[in-house]
Amino acid sequence: MPETVTLLIDPIAADAEGADLASTFRAVDAAEPALRVGELSTQRGDGIFETIGVADGHAQEVRPHLERLRNSARICELPEPNLAQWEAAIQTAVAQLPRDGEFGIKLVLSRGVEHGPAPTAWLTTSRAADFTVPRERGIRVVTLDRGYDRGAAERAPWLLLGAKTLSYAVNMAAIREAKRRGADDTIFVSSDGYVMEGPTSSVILRRDGVYSTPAPSGAILHGTTQQSLFEHLEATGHTPEYRDIPVDELRTADAAWLVSSVRLAAGITELDGEPMPYDAATTAEFNAYLLTPRD
Ligand code: PLP
Repeated sequence: MPETVTLLIDPIAADAEGADLASTFRAVDAAEPALRVGELSTQRGDGIFETIGVADGHAQEVRPHLERLRNSARICELPEPNLAQWEAAIQTAVAQLPRDGEFGIKLVLSRGVEHGPAPTAWLTTSRAADFTVPRERGIRVVTLDRGYDRGAAERAPWLLLGAKTLSYAVNMAAIREAKRRGADDTIFVSSDGYVMEGPTSSVILRRDGVYSTPAPSGAILHGTTQQSLFEHLEATGHTPEYRDIPVDELRTADAAWLVSSVRLAAGITELDGEPMPYDAATTAEFNAYLLTPRD
């Protein structure tokens, strides 16, 4: 069975009356050219994406990812994605993947060829990296200044904060900076001193037994993994909360995690060079839950 499935998607065709959704996308060879050189919007990062985890043949949390895709499209003023079409494409791709192991599915929707008729959309799968070490032994994290305050999203909507745009050059640069500082990953801190998120993950911390995550103010992405873990915590008798978290509270937390769709939960063992309490049992329990089929 192939490990890479790539489907080119025609968003306009899906909106036609009575469209047969399965005929609105087609498989292409990922090794062959499929995009046009005129795709300036994709080259500029003027588009949005999602990354969905697949565990043992099940695409996780498809609806929350598609809803976030729709929200990103709204923020970026892109045509509204047809969620039924994306869902059909995801199920087609998953059906072609091996039943065992972990994969990632990346959905991309860009504005398309400049002055062109339609946005460009595709989906591609890849086998997930081996995340045993971050999941089981944790990660060292440094905090980095995000360069704007918590109110930036409301004040400057053209920054597109809260949308998962293709422009991840800054996020990747932050991870390189973390590595230069001897860490594995980073947590962005707002210029007014509040915990925000990782470049590709959400932050959850526990203080005095209470789990919390930064309130989704519009300046951070609302993580699907974090939301799913909060549902799990509620189902197991906890009362997790959304709130503004000053960075000093992170430093004195009982435990903290970076969570995301493919790496899942990685406990923080060290923050800015200082050891942090690491809860191996809860981390293992989080990851066992995150690997069960979740809709
Ligand atoms: N925040 C940012 C900036 C991200 O890029 C991601 C995922 O890539 C997340 C949070 C976590 O989101 P999810 O749990 O839906 O993967």
